[in-house]
Amino acid sequence: MKNFSMYLMVLLGFLSISLAAQNKVDNSSNAFIDKLMKQMTLEEKLGQLNLPITGDIVTGVGQNSGVTGNIKAGKVGAIFGLRTVAKIKELQRIAVEQSRLKIPLLFGLDVIHGYVTAFPIPLALSCSWDMDLIEKSARIAAIEASADGINWTFSPMVDICRDPRWGRIAEGSGEDPYLGAQIAARMVKGYQGNLESNTEIMACVKHFALYGAAEGGRDYNTVDMSRIKMFNEYFPPFKAAVDAGVESAMASFNEVEGIPATGSKFLMTDVLRTMWGFNGFVVSDYTGISEMIAHGMGDLEQVSALALNAGVDMDMVSEGYVTTIKKALRDGLVSMEVIDRACRRILEAKYKLGLFANPYKFLDESRASKEIYTSENRQFARKSAAESCVLLKNSENILPLKQQGTIAVIGPLGDNKENMVGTWSVSADFSKAISLFTGLSEEMKGKANVLYARGSWFDYDSLFELRAGMFGKSVARDGRSTEELLQEALALAAKSDVIIAALGESAEMSGESSSRTDLNIPKAQQDLLKELLKTGKPVVLVLFTGRPLTLTWEDVNVPAILNTWFGGTEAGRGIADVLTGKVNPGGKLTSTFPQNVGQIPLYYAHKNTGRPLISPWFQKFQSNYLDVTNEPLYPFGYGLSYTTFSYTDMKIKPGKTRGSVEVSILLTNTGKTSGAEVVQLYIRDLVASITRPVKELKKFSKIYLQPGESKVVQFDMTLDDFKFYNSKLEFLAEPGDFKIFVGGNSRDVLSGDYKLGK
Ligand code: BGC
Repeated sequence: MKNFSMYLMVLLGFLSISLAAQNKVDNSSNAFIDKLMKQMTLEEKLGQLNLPITGDIVTGVGQNSGVTGNIKAGKVGAIFGLRTVAKIKELQRIAVEQSRLKIPLLFGLDVIHGYVTAFPIPLALSCSWDMDLIEKSARIAAIEASADGINWTFSPMVDICRDPRWGRIAEGSGEDPYLGAQIAARMVKGYQGNLESNTEIMACVKHFALYGAAEGGRDYNTVDMSRIKMFNEYFPPFKAAVDAGVESAMASFNEVEGIPATGSKFLMTDVLRTMWGFNGFVVSDYTGISEMIAHGMGDLEQVSALALNAGVDMDMVSEGYVTTIKKALRDGLVSMEVIDRACRRILEAKYKLGLFANPYKFLDESRASKEIYTSENRQFARKSAAESCVLLKNSENILPLKQQGTIAVIGPLGDNKENMVGTWSVSADFSKAISLFTGLSEEMKGKANVLYARGSWFDYDSLFELRAGMFGKSVARDGRSTEELLQEALALAAKSDVIIAALGESAEMSGESSSRTDLNIPKAQQDLLKELLKTGKPVVLVLFTGRPLTLTWEDVNVPAILNTWFGGTEAGRGIADVLTGKVNPGGKLTSTFPQNVGQIPLYYAHKNTGRPLISPWFQKFQSNYLDVTNEPLYPFGYGLSYTTFSYTDMKIKPGKTRGSVEVSILLTNTGKTSGAEVVQLYIRDLVASITRPVKELKKFSKIYLQPGESKVVQFDMTLDDFKFYNSKLEFLAEPGDFKIFVGGNSRDVLSGDYKLGK
């Protein structure tokens, strides 16, 4: 009874402040936050800036008295990495019942490509070029995560990456700023919606900035680049997320212009807020603040002050703000104004999320069992897995598979569930993921006989396997020798009509801290592939990878290659849909596949230089290599289909207003199957005040056509499509001559001329 009356009192006290609280920051919210902040002590303000880890995912909330004690004392603003309504509710209740000012907590987690229902890794999803599908993947992830109590996701990751050695290329949308910007905006929309219902959670655009340009592809490494390159090539997806209303942003680990991003006022305030008008809050990356000590920026007090002054409002895990800023204030390193500024931003975020109005908004026990891992969500995962596949080669139309005879699935990824979900899938249920063998067996039931043999281990180097086999995604061996595995596979191959070689990387060979210098399929699997080809049976390489690999040998020697990336929970079924022809592959690459590692960085939107290679390779004193052409193996935008498309009748019709131009093309499905084509429009600015790329993506459209069907595909361009940041960082279009290209990839295009007037 006593407990009940206490609860009522707390609730009433709460109501008095919450009646005013809605989800928009306006006059009434400002008054509400002003009033609240007047009551806050310095310690309580600093507490709001603190995002500690609980470690409770494994150990259980009750055991972590440190965190609960700190919440009671008002020393915590948000909690990292906690899942399930029961656990989260326990901490939220402590915050709103037992802390002095009853300020609710944020609960943040990495919900990167789905939640329990895992979708394809972001790089794969980007290859669908299907913005509705991508937005829906974020929407479903938000629904599932919020049903488990989470109200803040550390996504979207929008780092442009032109170096596939960097493992985190898997987490982004590839190399192109325009496509990256479209995806960033749709992801934010998918997660946040209007931040009204209890399924709409706060997004966090990351990692600001330039993280994907790390030297040598080594994770966390140094970045130094010109400002025109930052603004034109690396910032657009961040700006798009801000324009879409993203409520939080994460600082990156790397340095930029000699200052760690976490301590960069230029990035966190001048660009993000002053130039772009961002009005959410900035969180550091995991221990990003204390890592500035190793960067050489001072002790914990100094680096914490540096970050806070720069505009990083919340400290993820370093605990630098709660432990040192009070002293930094005394020492004159920070001002009260800067502390208040950060605190206000966190409170505003909580207000916008509706947590002051209802701190239990996301804590409805009845939701999880109904809304997580539903059959609809899994259906959608299957569709996304299929739509993300990119057909790289299909000579003699080996694919789709004939639905008869015996199909041998061979390779370490052929019947492996755990690795299907890919990197950064902390909430996925690996044990329920569908392997290729399972998916294909289901699809072929009653038609063809599907058999499996492992064929090889991931690699000969067991230590490499170990390093790439973390987070429970097994790459374990079972004691058999290489020879035994091979003989079993060859025996299976001998009695089969077609071989599906399921090879590539394990899930954790890409992702964070998973950089590679050798981008071949690991040697043990390459050797297996060679043996399989020697049998003379048709071989389809079904590739699993989190990054572009170097497939030069495979491209010459293997008749069909289907890149499936890591397709998520329903990968096996989605891939089976493509292999059987139920789904005609329509994915297109969003990152260039180089011929070899020495060509990196290699991307389609490169500059011309003063000595471009005209042709043919090799030309002395031109920009090229002695030992390999400048061409990629597969260019940006490339991907085949079971049907073919023709592009004819390109028309460029300038409109009435400056920069408005209508570009059209007649697209025809010239094959025998219905299918989708991603029509891509690129421009080249031929003369400008700074050098411009040889091609830049400006529009695209995914078009479905029946066999023999034609459609006029029209793009309406505006002045904005011709704009870029000049040396003064002004965003404008310069008059003059442009080329406009349209095609099915960045290499094979039709072109026309356009003159932009003054
Ligand atoms: C990663 C972030 C992630 C954070 C929290 C860091 O190591 O860089 O992307 O959100 O950890 O898990």
